[in-house]
Amino acid sequence: MSFTRVLDSIGLERSDTVSSFASLLTPKTDEQLDALAVRARELTFRYFGRTMRLFAPLYLSNECINSCRYCGFSRENSILRVTLSVEEVVKEGQHLAREGFRQLLLVAGEHPKFVSGDYLAECIRALRHDFSSIAIEVGPMETEEYTPIVIAGAEGLVVYQETYNRAVYAEVHAIGPKRDFDWRLRSPERGYDAGFRRIGIGALFGLAPWREDAIALAAHLEYLLKRCWKSSITVSVPRLRPAAGEFRPLFPMNDRDLVQLVAALRVTFPQVGIVLSTREHAELRDLLTTVGVTMMSAGSHTEPGGYTHQGRAHIHRTVRGRIVPPEVPIADSEVATGQFEISDSRSPQEIADILRRQGLEPVWKDWDMALTET
Ligand code: SF4
Repeated sequence: MSFTRVLDSIGLERSDTVSSFASLLTPKTDEQLDALAVRARELTFRYFGRTMRLFAPLYLSNECINSCRYCGFSRENSILRVTLSVEEVVKEGQHLAREGFRQLLLVAGEHPKFVSGDYLAECIRALRHDFSSIAIEVGPMETEEYTPIVIAGAEGLVVYQETYNRAVYAEVHAIGPKRDFDWRLRSPERGYDAGFRRIGIGALFGLAPWREDAIALAAHLEYLLKRCWKSSITVSVPRLRPAAGEFRPLFPMNDRDLVQLVAALRVTFPQVGIVLSTREHAELRDLLTTVGVTMMSAGSHTEPGGYTHQGRAHIHRTVRGRIVPPEVPIADSEVATGQFEISDSRSPQEIADILRRQGLEPVWKDWDMALTET
């Protein structure tokens, strides 16, 4: 059975795993939530040891043909845009390598003209000597389009469904290829068929009632663990952050809810990696690392060229996909606009020190391409 059918019948019919996950999401007293968090922590240590994988996002481009109401890169936002050249990408990568990172997530808006499969493969080939693990988070592709990217050296594919609620999805994705809910929903499977070793899924919490999206996300995880059994599956639980366009969450999710969700995911799926970004504030991140998170970003920038001010020579302003002349000259110090505001701006080394103080070992590298090369 395809996941589309599983999702569309989730209100009437749920597996035992998803039903027990849903029961962990019901409102809890403080004592019950503490007990759930303790159980989650024990399972995290049992399955992952006292470790935390660290990675950095590297934004390649903020050009986008989609109109997602919640995203700063949305096509109608009049922002400063750029697509880094391969040489500029390498400079950003070298900076991150000097910071200690060996695991990279390449991120770009969806714009086939600027961010083609060939461009991605070229970036990956240029970076692979400095990074043991490279994942991509870009517009969904066909299996045949993913294959050259895997061959170039990408190990992971990240595709968030944003929301599993079809009505909300249609409302917030007004224009562009991303409107196709089912095409996006099947992307992780197409990526698996192309050979990605690691598949990351997630929902953007704040678009729909959080418990409903969390239950659908759990059903998706359960499905992919069977369908994509040769790959490792990770899950991410980002919450909406302020961004250009000034969209505000329709269904806010508070910190306590997020702790409960991470604990419930860990208890239900003890073997699944849980990823945390710098969207969340420092105090909450420090708490979640002791509950169930196994992989986190640090010192992140969400603007292309943000680490070393690359791309300044060809920054431009785009409105509805068209480059418009700047009303005032773009200053030399300007960089392209970021996707959203970062909440935790501590440096990678500060994060590593905090993890050590918590009794966790920061892991900069836990994989090498040589393991899969023949
Ligand atoms: S969420 Fe992705 S597809 Fe949508 S506007 Fe932002 S970058 Fe483009």
